[in-house]
Amino acid sequence: MQILDGIAVSTHIKAQLQTEVAAIKAAGGKVPHLAAVLVGNNPASEAYVGNKVRTCEELGFGSTLLRFDPLISEAMLLEEVEKLNANPDIDGILVQLPLPGHIDENSVINAIDPAKDVDGFHPISQGRMLLGQPTFLPATPYGIMLMLEHYDIDVSGKHCVVIGRSNIVGTPMTILMSRNTRPGNATVTLAHSRTKNLKELVLQADIIVAAIGKPRFVTADMVKEGAIVIDVGINRIDDATRKSGSRLVGDVDFDNVAPKCSYITPVPKGVGPMTICGLMKNTLKAAISRS
Ligand code: NAD
Repeated sequence: MQILDGIAVSTHIKAQLQTEVAAIKAAGGKVPHLAAVLVGNNPASEAYVGNKVRTCEELGFGSTLLRFDPLISEAMLLEEVEKLNANPDIDGILVQLPLPGHIDENSVINAIDPAKDVDGFHPISQGRMLLGQPTFLPATPYGIMLMLEHYDIDVSGKHCVVIGRSNIVGTPMTILMSRNTRPGNATVTLAHSRTKNLKELVLQADIIVAAIGKPRFVTADMVKEGAIVIDVGINRIDDATRKSGSRLVGDVDFDNVAPKCSYITPVPKGVGPMTICGLMKNTLKAAISRS
C-alpha cells in the first residue's frame, strides 16, 4: 500500500509555479492576482480561504481577500463580483462556498467573468470541460488528476466508482476520468444517495473516489483488495484526545481500508492540498491568457 501524499505532490507543483511566476516577474510581466470573496465567518470557510491566500503569498501571486457581512444582499454581492470582473489587476475570482441561504449560489457563480473563473464552476467552464475544450477545470477534480499523473497511476480501462454527484467534485470527476486522456480512459460509474446495492457496486471498483461528506462512510467490506482509493471528504468529528476536542476525517474509514489498497489518499494531507494546487494552476493560466 502506498500513501498518495498531497503535501509532497503539492510542494513539487508549487515549486514549479514559483519558478514560473519568478520568470514572469523577471521579464517585467504581471504576476497572477487572485481575489477571494468570503461572506460571513464560517470557520471551515475561513480556514479554506486562509490557506488559499497564504499559498498565493508563498508562490509570489498577488491576493486580495474581500470579507462581507453574512447579511449582505445578493444584489450587493453581485455588484462586488462585477467590480472584480472589471478590475484589470484581478486575474482570478474565487467565491468561497457555501453562501448564506438567502443568496442564490448559481447567480453569483454565473456572474463571474468566465475568463477569471479559476474555481471552474461557471457554466461556460463546465460546458467546455464536458466537451474537452481548453478551460479552467474545477479545482478539486483537477487536483486529483494532477495527483494521479504525478504518481503515474494508469487508470485506463479500469473501473472507477465515484460516490457523490455534486457539480464541484463527483460529476466533474466522472467526466475527467472517462476522457480520452492520460490519466483518463477509465470506465466510470457514478453512485449517489439513491444508488441501490452500493456496497456490491463499490466492491467491483478498481478506483474509488469518495465525495459524500459522511465520516468514514466507505468501510473495508466495501473495498476490494488492491483498489486505489481517493478520499475527498473533509468531516470534523469529536475527539476528546485532541486539545481542540475534534479532528478531521475523510469519507473513508482509513485505518481499516488502507491495508487493502494499492494506493490511498489520507485526510488531511491528501486531496485538500491538491485542490489548492488546481486553483493556483488555474490562476496562473488566467493571468497568462489575459496578459
Ligand atoms: P455534496 O453534499 O454537494 O454532495 C454529496 C454527494 O454525496 C451527493 O451527490 C449525494 O448524492 C451523495 N450521497 C449522500 N449520501 C449518500 C449515500 N448514503 N450513498 C451514496 N451517496 C450519497 O458534497 P461535495 O461538495 O461534493 O463534497 C463532498 C465532501 O468532499 C465533503 O466532505 C466536502 O467537505 C469535501 N470536499 C473536499 C474538498 C477538498 O479539497 N478535499 C473539496 C470539495 C469538497
